[in-house]
Amino acid sequence: MKETINKYGNRLSAIFCSIFGHHFGVTKEITSHIKEYKCVHCNKEVTTDASGNLSELTPELQDINNTLEHIYQKRHNSNQQVA
Ligand SMILES: [Zn+2]
Repeated sequence: MKETINKYGNRLSAIFCSIFGHHFGVTKEITSHIKEYKCVHCNKEVTTDASGNLSELTPELQDINNTLEHIYQKRHNSNQQVA
């Protein structure tokens, strides 16, 4: 093979992920139960869905998360001063 690892780095990461699983890091905490994650290897984004499983972060789910985040922060900040 003539190809370098750099050229296929992203593809290798994806293969790595498909074999060993994604390595998700939390990118955003929506509520205490719902978070958004991103894979450190392939940058795949997922979120906790309504049933508690990880789903691919679609624009629809992102929309829902933004709404949830807004409601959640409003409820939890109601007794605190807003800076
Ligand atoms: Zn991955």
